Amino acid sequence: MNRIINFSAGPATLPLPVLEQVRQDLLDWNGSGMSVMEMSHRDKEFMSIAQESEKILRRIAEIPDNYKVLFMQGGATAQFALIPLNLLRGKAGADYVVTGDWGKKALKECGKYGKARVAASSEADKFTLIPDRTGWALDPDAAYVHITPNETIHGVEFHYVPDTGSVPLVADMSSNILSRPLEVSKYGLIYGGAQKNIGPAGLTLVIVREDLIGHAAPVTPGVFDYKAVADNESMLNTPSCFAWYVSGLVFKWIDSQGGLAVVGERNARKAALLYDYLDSQDFYSNPVARKDRSWMNVPFTLANPDLDAEFLKGSVAAGMRGLKGHRAVGGMRASIYNAMPETGVATLVEYMKEFVRMRG
Ligand code: PMP
Repeated sequence: MNRIINFSAGPATLPLPVLEQVRQDLLDWNGSGMSVMEMSHRDKEFMSIAQESEKILRRIAEIPDNYKVLFMQGGATAQFALIPLNLLRGKAGADYVVTGDWGKKALKECGKYGKARVAASSEADKFTLIPDRTGWALDPDAAYVHITPNETIHGVEFHYVPDTGSVPLVADMSSNILSRPLEVSKYGLIYGGAQKNIGPAGLTLVIVREDLIGHAAPVTPGVFDYKAVADNESMLNTPSCFAWYVSGLVFKWIDSQGGLAVVGERNARKAALLYDYLDSQDFYSNPVARKDRSWMNVPFTLANPDLDAEFLKGSVAAGMRGLKGHRAVGGMRASIYNAMPETGVATLVEYMKEFVRMRG
């Protein structure tokens, strides 16, 4: 077995002990004589997997009892529509703070169902910063305020939870969920696709305050009405069983690491290692305002883009993959989610230094 150091933005690297457990369980889960892929979601075996995973998630993320946890499908992109459908609650519209391409997509989708207002945007700054909270133009009558705490493409992250008063805060945490302790009670709703920090693609996690559900617009597809999903324990129809099971193993792995505080400290160290190096020289650079730099996705460019292809080729030869930047910003991007070990980041930094010695 020759596992690479995988910097993919998502689907992304998973913890090795989780994959080993999956391999062990693959043909026969826990003496049931079947794979999780072959079980009915109504079987007692799968019911126990589902209940146990929610229990561990609630513990590690300290989710208060007045929040529902929904295990849905359709990715974060489906939630861009489901949030206005479920949360507008008869109000005219919602406020969006746009700090990257994903927030922009969420805003656009909301516009189909209500008034989608831009309360603040950093587009004029090419999404290299989080607009200062004092400058946001929030509407007190908005149904909610939507933010993207980590913009995966641009590598900008909120390092605080903004106060939006009595208007519920809705957060697309697709690329930074469970990367550090979560203050769930400061949000009305948190959502994210699983394929970065949680598990395999195909599962979307929604954590929503109870009083916000039960008001879906009449046109909402039944299977996407949060209240119906909650009342049926995310089994209104067949859920994404296998992805749910693997996600449960990831929650257990986080627990075994010491929980979100320990994981968060490790993530901070990983990010610091890379940013400190980026700031110490001028062959590579990162355009994001220092206070708003992401711990999860680190975009960087080479001073001479003609060397990009050679840099990437060399990184593959050195056992790394997934460093090509998103086409919207070019250059490179290292995604260093929870499952990326500190040694992986150290290997990258060593390779970057070596490349400067050869080509700088
Ligand atoms: N939001 C963010 C912040 C993302 O990073 C992504 C995926 N990269 C999405 C939304 C879209 O997610 P999905 O593919 O699960 O719909």
